[in-house]
Amino acid sequence: MIVLEWNRIQDKWLERWQEDSVFQADVDPNKEKFFLTVAYPYPNSPQHIGHGRTYTLTDVYARYKRMQGFNVLFPMAFHYTGTPILAMSERIESGDKELIQTFIDLYNVPKDIIASFKEPINIAKYFHQEIKTGMIEMGYSIDWRREFTTVDPTYSAFIEWQFAKLKEKDLITIGSHPVGWCPKDKSPVGQHDTSGDVEPDIGEYTLIMFQMDETKLPAATLRPETIYGVTNLWIRPDATYIKATVNEESWIISKETANKLQFLNMKIEIKEEFSGRDLIGKKVVNPVNRNEVNIFPASFVDPKNGTGIVMSVPAHAPYDFQALKDLIGQTNDLNRLGLSKELVESIKIPVIIFSDDYDGVPSQKIIDKMGIKSQSDPNLEYATADQYRHEFHVGKLNDLTGKYSGMSVYSGRNAIRKDLLKQKIGIIIYEIINRPVICRCGTECVVKIFENQWFIDYSNPQWKSLARKCLEKIRILPDEIKPEFDYTIGWLKEKACARKSGLGTHLPWDREWIIESLSDSVIYMAYYILSKYVNILGIKSQQLDYDFFEFIFFEKGNLEDIATNNKIDMDTIRDIRTEFVYFYPLDSRHSGRDLVSNHLTFFIFNHSAIFPENNWPHQIVVNGTVLMDGKKMSKSIGNIIPLRNAIKTYGADALRLAILSTAELLQDADFSLTLIKTFRERIERLYDSIVWVMDSSEKSEIGNLKIEDRWIISRLNRLVIQTTDAINKLRLREAIHTMVYLFDQDMQWYLRRSKSNLDDRTSINVSVLHQILEIRVKLLAPFAPFISEEMWELLGHKSYVSVETWPKLDESKIDLEAEESENLIKNVLDDTLSIIRVTKIKPSRIIYYTSSEWKWIVYSSALSYLSKDRFDVGLLIRNLMSNVSLRNSSKEVSLFAKKMVDEMKTIPQDILEQKMKLGTLREYDIIDDALEFLKRELAVEVSVYSEDNPSKYDPKGRASFSKPHRPAIFIE
Ligand SMILES: [Zn+2]
Repeated sequence: MIVLEWNRIQDKWLERWQEDSVFQADVDPNKEKFFLTVAYPYPNSPQHIGHGRTYTLTDVYARYKRMQGFNVLFPMAFHYTGTPILAMSERIESGDKELIQTFIDLYNVPKDIIASFKEPINIAKYFHQEIKTGMIEMGYSIDWRREFTTVDPTYSAFIEWQFAKLKEKDLITIGSHPVGWCPKDKSPVGQHDTSGDVEPDIGEYTLIMFQMDETKLPAATLRPETIYGVTNLWIRPDATYIKATVNEESWIISKETANKLQFLNMKIEIKEEFSGRDLIGKKVVNPVNRNEVNIFPASFVDPKNGTGIVMSVPAHAPYDFQALKDLIGQTNDLNRLGLSKELVESIKIPVIIFSDDYDGVPSQKIIDKMGIKSQSDPNLEYATADQYRHEFHVGKLNDLTGKYSGMSVYSGRNAIRKDLLKQKIGIIIYEIINRPVICRCGTECVVKIFENQWFIDYSNPQWKSLARKCLEKIRILPDEIKPEFDYTIGWLKEKACARKSGLGTHLPWDREWIIESLSDSVIYMAYYILSKYVNILGIKSQQLDYDFFEFIFFEKGNLEDIATNNKIDMDTIRDIRTEFVYFYPLDSRHSGRDLVSNHLTFFIFNHSAIFPENNWPHQIVVNGTVLMDGKKMSKSIGNIIPLRNAIKTYGADALRLAILSTAELLQDADFSLTLIKTFRERIERLYDSIVWVMDSSEKSEIGNLKIEDRWIISRLNRLVIQTTDAINKLRLREAIHTMVYLFDQDMQWYLRRSKSNLDDRTSINVSVLHQILEIRVKLLAPFAPFISEEMWELLGHKSYVSVETWPKLDESKIDLEAEESENLIKNVLDDTLSIIRVTKIKPSRIIYYTSSEWKWIVYSSALSYLSKDRFDVGLLIRNLMSNVSLRNSSKEVSLFAKKMVDEMKTIPQDILEQKMKLGTLREYDIIDDALEFLKRELAVEVSVYSEDNPSKYDPKGRASFSKPHRPAIFIE
């Protein structure tokens, strides 16, 4: 077998593609366009295999569309905006050993370059080049003339226009809103700023003020309605609590809470500090019903959550119920804390929500059901979630809640919260529900009430309905994720859109502020049209005023004035406008699934606000992540492979196939090195067969086709449809499976049938093989572009397969007869081999008997009955009996007819119809033609008789067992 020089082949085609500008796209009025983009990368580290999935998927799609005849525009840019790069340079500056070691060991960054990383822009520039080179080496078919970064002054001019536009439409607000916040960076944090890319999820807690003399003990809850079911408070005995003046009141809270409340703009003065133990056994007053309740200890209380004071509602919170039960069992501890078992046992548990006909304590029911034994049982989380969900959906408040009785949990909760606030026994605080969320600088994020800040108003109801209208028209792949978009549009609130630090564009009306990264990346696809002209003509930011953008995107304003004011000639401006009209809207937007709830939804919002409906995007494609041998990729496990290293070692083609072959869109892909090797071997085999075909001297006319030639051509056409359908739905795993694995199986069979191996050049139809290989190379081209070009050239072509025409189905080549014939041979061979295996006979002769003519008549009649959905066997038999030729053996006929009908009932309707279309199969001729093949495969004398042949050799009377499509077999 030939050993391919993958890297040499790669370099060769990269050079040629570049020389001939194969992937540059300009306006072509005679061709339909297809414009697709993928989320531009952050250059703060090199790409690893995990990043490769979204980009490779997009490139395969781009290449496929190009071969389908579209004028495909696939551009790329780099997102410098924001604080991550800044945070990283600070870590370098402070000599962070772990980070520096990662750069050296994992990413092979030279030491002197790392020293330059103290300047943030140098990090961006270095990894920008690194990522770009990797993308080129991966064979991404990008039009690099349009490349830009988000800190280019011309891009900033565009973003300033975008923000002026949003402001003009009243979609920018100034105000105070809670945001995720890094106390160290003094900056809001979004998903891009946190380690592990987690979006801080901000929740609204109600603090309910329990009273101990003049001091308040605020308990934080998401379910204020349960205040009516409180039996006690929980305190963590080994945590530190403080007494403090908060907004001129005296509060007791955990020490950790104090810091948090400051960010919520409360004034705090700490008076004393003490252990939680000191509070145990004291009593407090429930502010809604003035009941006195005890303070008890519980280990599940987290002093960092809420206020470190938890109200206990045992009937409706499994944790509380279990903690009470645990207490009763710990007599010694109770005594030590000055409590008694009797006291705890005497507590009555009030049920305040009824949700089914069960009249006991609902949390007890769930705890018993799940077999939970202590408050450290992790199943308590599920029990809690379960009960909360159930009560929220079907629960109603009962008499113990007084005037709220009869309300649903949802409306009761809102009413009670409102009243608590009004009576000043409750206040609202915000907290990160999915805490801890860690900033990239290593600090835990908090919620801050951000005052006098700039927000994009995603809460605006008119804007929401416009975004929904836009979403409705977008094809989302896979479509099961569409409700997630709708849901996000629903809950999105005002989003802080500017920071005081980081790289990026200044707010045009308030230059202290820098627009953050999830806000300057929502309509940049439109800028790709412009960037080509900016790069080629050297247009400067001063030449791009708002009027210029208004003309390009909406054809508004006076062209002559715009040209004069911006010092750009009118033809150029007109060209840019023409190009925008040609390429916009975007036909497909690609990104990872984690961007659905932010970037992708912002993308929809902003397009709907800024562009007219005919420029709204057509499609969004979302994909899952990549696992490495079933494990999450992470630095700590040490299973991260930088993309460029992988390309060097394994070659881009096999890498691309391996990344895409294990999963459909939303599933996690499972990458493995074994898989790469498999693909390399398969491609090498394909390459070998091309070499063989081209070496073959007789490249004659296709000539007379044998049945197996007709079969492989038919199969090829079917696989072309299947592959094409799969790619149209972005089901790339299925596409690869079809064109690589299924096709390989068919090829193996074809070669076996045509005479077992490639060394025998006389028996195989070289022209047919040549035709097949050409189509296979075309199908492979979007997935493995380099080797496909090499093979295409080897097949004698001067063109690039990258821009060749995608194979089309040729209906006339679908050959049912050939397919059924080959099925017959395959089945006969498989049946024979399994009989030999089971009976352990060493055969000296094998005889096949094909069905008698009358059996075929019965079979066809039965088929025509069943394919018309009629099941009256009696009627079928009566009809058959009227057929003169069958009357002689009426009993045999009716038995056989019943048997046929029973067998056919299990066959799907579409297959029955196909068999109908096919009619009678000339089984005898088919097997007779294949005798040589069967002899070779079975290594024994083989013969065939028709059941109707009076002089057949049939010593054991086996011929009568034959059925249509199922010849009888006799082994001697
Ligand atoms: Zn930070």
